[in-house]
Amino acid sequence: MSTRIVRAAEMIREAGCAVVLTGAGMSVASGIPDFRSPGGLWSKYDPDQVASISALHRTPDIVWKFLDEAAQMVGKAEPNPAHHALADMEKRGFLKAVITQNIDGLHQRAGSSNVIEFHGNCSRFYCMKCAGDFPLQKIVDRGKGLKPPRCEECGGLVRPDLVFFGERIPERALSDAGFYANGADLVIIAGTSGEVAPANLIPSQVKSAGGRLIEINKNGSAYTSICDLSLDGPVEDILPAIAEELNNSES
Ligand SMILES: [Zn+2]
Repeated sequence: MSTRIVRAAEMIREAGCAVVLTGAGMSVASGIPDFRSPGGLWSKYDPDQVASISALHRTPDIVWKFLDEAAQMVGKAEPNPAHHALADMEKRGFLKAVITQNIDGLHQRAGSSNVIEFHGNCSRFYCMKCAGDFPLQKIVDRGKGLKPPRCEECGGLVRPDLVFFGERIPERALSDAGFYANGADLVIIAGTSGEVAPANLIPSQVKSAGGRLIEINKNGSAYTSICDLSLDGPVEDILPAIAEELNNSES
C-alpha cells in the first residue's frame, strides 16, 4: 500500500488541476451510514414517502419527521480525518475543488472552501413561498412536537436546501462541475461507487480528455477498469496518508 500512497502523491503533485469526487463512504467514519447500505435510512424509510418533492407537498408532517431524524444524525456528526485531509490538500494548493454527493456539510466544516454540492445541504433551509432563508438554529429550537417549521414572514412551509427525489440537480452545481470536468486533469474518486448521475460523467470526461483517475474506495468503483491507480481501503486512512506524503515530499 505504501508505494501506492507515494504514487498517488506524485500524481497529485504532477496534476495541473486536481479535483475530488466524494460520496457516502466519506462520512461513514463520522457516524453517518450510507443511506443505501443495510441499516441505512433507506432500509427503514421509503424515499418516495419521506424524501420526494411530491411527499413534501402532500404530507409535510411525515417528511419533516424524517428530516428531523436525519438532522439529528447529521447534527451529531463531526468531520473525520478524510474530510480534514482534503481540506488540508486544498489549502496547500494541491486540490482545486471538492465535488460531492453528500448533504452533510462536513467538507465545509473541515475547512474545504470550494465545495460543489450536487444534492444540496441539509443544514440550510428556506421558505417555499417567499424563498427567505430560515436559520438552522430555529429548526433545532422548535423542540419536541416537531411540527413542520413555518416562515415567520409569510407562514409558508420551510424546507431544507436539499435535492429531493423528483427534483433537478441545481444549475449552479451542474455548471461548476462542468467547468472542472472540462478543466481538470486528475480526478480522485473517494468513498463513492460513482454510479450516480451526473457525478458519474466527470471521471469519464476527464479520462477521455487525457487526464488521470485515482480511486479510493473499499470495494472499487464503477471506474476501476479505467483508473490509473486504485487504493482499496477506507478513505479515513488513505487520504490522511496521502496528505502527509504530500507534505513530506514538499520540503
Ligand atoms: Zn416566507
